[in-house]
Amino acid sequence: MSGRLLYDDHVHSHFSCDARDSLESLCDAAREQGLAGVTLTDHFDTEPSDPGYGWYDYDRILLEVERVRQQTGPGFSLLLGAEICFQTSFAPRIADLLRSCPLDFALGAVHYVRHEFIDPAYFGRHDLHRAYGAYFEAVEELVESGLFDSLAHLDMPKLHSTPVYGRFAPERFWEHIERILRLVIRKGMALELNTKGWRQLPAESYPGEAILRRYVELGGTRITIGSDTHDAAHLGYGIERAHALARRLGFTHLTRYVQRRPQLVPLTEGLDAGSASMRL
Ligand SMILES: [Zn+2]
Ligand SMILES: [Zn+2]
Repeated sequence: MSGRLLYDDHVHSHFSCDARDSLESLCDAAREQGLAGVTLTDHFDTEPSDPGYGWYDYDRILLEVERVRQQTGPGFSLLLGAEICFQTSFAPRIADLLRSCPLDFALGAVHYVRHEFIDPAYFGRHDLHRAYGAYFEAVEELVESGLFDSLAHLDMPKLHSTPVYGRFAPERFWEHIERILRLVIRKGMALELNTKGWRQLPAESYPGEAILRRYVELGGTRITIGSDTHDAAHLGYGIERAHALARRLGFTHLTRYVQRRPQLVPLTEGLDAGSASMRL
């Protein structure tokens, strides 16, 4: 197992309102698993009705990252990112944050569509086409904004649409999805391979394999990989499986962002998706 460069680059600590573990315990869990590093991506929530609104405290987070870095030493790569909740009307505020609070990694996410939170009730209020159509338009605006390094969990609403409409079928939305993927590539952004869906109802990564394959076919090469864990117990979940999947789809490297600049890391060889999934 030596020489593996496995990282978890989507991790929430108690600096997110919906997570509870300290950065120290998350880093301990990562090192116990032999991970080479993590990127902390606590929520920067922009929607005033969100419970996490006003929660993000860059100065405290930075102090804690610097303190834990001293403990972990140079052999472990602890990076400071944020998962930033995008809506077009909040773009100036986000740009302000990114100017005044230096980050390694800006991960852009759509959690709200026109101020409506995406949850099971959202799919109760809108039919499938309308619900996803509006969501994908919001994602396109995120990518178009040029503010972010990577696009978080592209088809994550399938977590909430599956109980209402059944399994998410990307084929029904190729026009939207391909436009987003082309734009990601044109903007030089990365697409996130988020492993959380493997332990949730969709039992697929976010995005699923068909979308990742299409991204490769269109010329996409940059992916970031993260578990989106909100506790130490799931730190690193599915990371080996994600490496195996990415290699199988034709990616050769993952991308990590250091001071907002992409760094290529070779994907770990010798893992097959089946055995990796059994291990994790
Ligand atoms: Zn998210
Ligand atoms: Zn997250």
